[in-house]
Amino acid sequence: MSGATLLKETGPREVFCGLTSIVWLHRRMPDAFFLVVGSRTCAHLIQSAAGVMIFAEPRFGTAILEERDLAGLADAHDELDRVVNDLLTRRPEIKTLFLVGSCPSEVIKLDLARVAERLNVQLNGRVRVVNYSGSGIETTFTQGEDGALKALVPLMPNVAEKQLLLVGTLANSVEDRLVTLFKRLGIPKVASFPPRQSVDLPSVGPGTKVLLTQPYLSETTRELKNKGAEILKAPYPLGIEGSTLWMKAAAKSFKVNESLLNQTLEPLILRAHKALEPFKEKLSGKRIFLLPESQLEIPLARFLSRECGMELLEVGTPYLNRELMETELQLLPKNTRIMEGQHVDNQLDRVREQKPDLVVCGMGLANPLEAEDISTKWSIEMVFSPIHGIDQAADLAELFSRPLHRNQLLKKNHLAHV
Ligand code: SF4
Repeated sequence: MSGATLLKETGPREVFCGLTSIVWLHRRMPDAFFLVVGSRTCAHLIQSAAGVMIFAEPRFGTAILEERDLAGLADAHDELDRVVNDLLTRRPEIKTLFLVGSCPSEVIKLDLARVAERLNVQLNGRVRVVNYSGSGIETTFTQGEDGALKALVPLMPNVAEKQLLLVGTLANSVEDRLVTLFKRLGIPKVASFPPRQSVDLPSVGPGTKVLLTQPYLSETTRELKNKGAEILKAPYPLGIEGSTLWMKAAAKSFKVNESLLNQTLEPLILRAHKALEPFKEKLSGKRIFLLPESQLEIPLARFLSRECGMELLEVGTPYLNRELMETELQLLPKNTRIMEGQHVDNQLDRVREQKPDLVVCGMGLANPLEAEDISTKWSIEMVFSPIHGIDQAADLAELFSRPLHRNQLLKKNHLAHV
């Protein structure tokens, strides 16, 4: 399959939980509301993550259940019903309510699927209620999106007609650009999942060709396949090469004329190579270590190595779906060390031993590493930045060259003061 060396480790983990994905999902579907059924810790996480990263109206909240005496579970059900009814009375614009489970044992005892079922009967179609888990015991932060989308698949109408379905949250501007390009190639029907309004769910069926925009959607992909969709094999649309092959996979499936394809893509590719050049100069030869958090690590490593000339010391991933990663693994340099899972202490020991120029990691690990004079990049930034597509390759490279540049400046400044 690939020349990469696939390894596994388990132990203490240091990653964000799936609740974090609410931060970008609620921005994508403004008619939806995400109600975390959890503890004060969950409320604090979601409020501070969303507050720091975006300035949005609250389309998320927390039903705090931890301090209740749950000897009788009826209490918790009543409490949840009360919170939901208050919320929907105050916010009649809500069209889809996601009940999001979390780790506290009080919540684990609740069967949220049954709660959603009961509320759906009560609400009689006025609001759709679905549920998924964002618990840190089960999920890392991007798996929250996988859970949310999986919960929506059963609500998607069936269709037999041939269509292209882009699956995974994209920045709206990037989505517009990609849809325009596919239309220019003559692909008549292109839909996106998740949609921009939760009630405008695309249809799915035997004619649906799925192009994944994000690599962390294993469960959603399985559900879409069960509905008859075909998953197109391609690398992910990160960097010039990945995005080109990604678009070519759709073009092949829709039998797009080759000269039209080349005419459309070549100018973009030329322009993107030119824009990438200055960043390539800065990144080439630099050594990078990616710690596992987002499941974006393998496609990013492929881009950083093949298009930016970086040396991959280790590529961590919280979970490796070999089928969805097959094309990516084939493109990695021979003997790339892929580490699935995490033992954070052992991994940090390897970081210190190898002294990389740059580490991609979670926010919790970034500060301690910076204090040890190791430059870092937060992996969560990759899901908030518009990085997909041929046009965005230079912006993606810039995300990695910025911390290196900053570190150089700091060192220069320090030397000037010695
Ligand atoms: S779901 Fe679990 S890991 Fe996430 S904030 Fe709540 S308690 Fe913490």
